[in-house]
Amino acid sequence: MKKVSIFVISMLYFHLLVHVSSSPFLYATQVYEESSGGRNLKQKHEQENAQEVHCSRERSRAARKVIEEYLTPFVERENYQLSSKCRLHPDNDIFWDQEEHKIYIDRNEWRCGYCKKSFREEKFLDQHFDNRHYNLLNLSHGRCLADFCGALHCDAVMNSKSSRSKCNPEAAARNLHLCESLADECFPISEGPSAGRLHELFLHQFCDAHTCSGKHKPFSRGGKDQSSFLRLAAGALILVLLPVFYLFLYLIQSDVKGRTQELRRISKDAWKTKPS
Ligand SMILES: [Zn+2]
Repeated sequence: MKKVSIFVISMLYFHLLVHVSSSPFLYATQVYEESSGGRNLKQKHEQENAQEVHCSRERSRAARKVIEEYLTPFVERENYQLSSKCRLHPDNDIFWDQEEHKIYIDRNEWRCGYCKKSFREEKFLDQHFDNRHYNLLNLSHGRCLADFCGALHCDAVMNSKSSRSKCNPEAAARNLHLCESLADECFPISEGPSAGRLHELFLHQFCDAHTCSGKHKPFSRGGKDQSSFLRLAAGALILVLLPVFYLFLYLIQSDVKGRTQELRRISKDAWKTKPS
C-alpha cells in the first residue's frame, strides 16, 4: 500500500514538473521570441494562407452567434440538414473547430480544449489559438463566415455603434441580394416543404430588414431564448388556467344538478295539482 502511494505521489510530482516546465516560463520565452520575430512569422503565415489574415475572428463569432440564436432552432425544429453547399454550414467557418475547443470555466477562466492551458480572458485564448494552434484552422474551404455579417445583421449582436449609423441604400441593396442568395442556396425550395418553410423564414428573419425604410426589424421571428421563454410562459399559463377550468366545470355541473332537482320538484307539484 505504502509503495503504491509513493509511486502515485512521485508520478504526480513528475506530472507537475512536466506541466510547469511546459507552461508559464517556457511559454513566456516562446511568446517573447514570437513577438520579437513576429513580423517574419506573420509574413510567413500570410504567405501560407492569405485567407486567415483577411477573416475576422470576432465578426465570424458574431455571425455564428446570429446563426445559432436565430436560425438553428428553426432548422432543428424542421429536422432539416444544411448541405455543405450552404455557406452558413459549419464546414465553411474556418474558426469553427477552434471555437468548439473553447472551454468556459467561469468569468475569469477560459481553457484551451487542445492543450488545456488556462487564460484570464477570451481574447487571450483567441491570441493563443492564433499563435499556438494556427494549423488547426479549417482552411479547406477557404471561406470566411464574417463575409456574411452584412446579410446576417452581426452588428445587432455586437452592440456596435455602426448599427445605429445612417442607412446606406446601396449597402442595404447589396446585403439584401446576399441575404436572398443565402436563402436560395441553404434552403432550395425544390427540396421539399420543410426547405420551403425555412426559405420563407430566412427571408423574414434576415432579409426583410435590409431596407432603409426602417419598417422591418431583423430577427422578426424571434430566437432561441425567446422561443424557450414563450414555452415557459405557455406552461405557466396552463398551470394557472387548469384549476380555473376545473372549477368552472364543477360549477356548471352543480348548477345542472340543482336545476334538474328543481325541474323534478316542479313536475311532481304539477302531478299533484293535476287531479283537482
Ligand atoms: Zn492550446
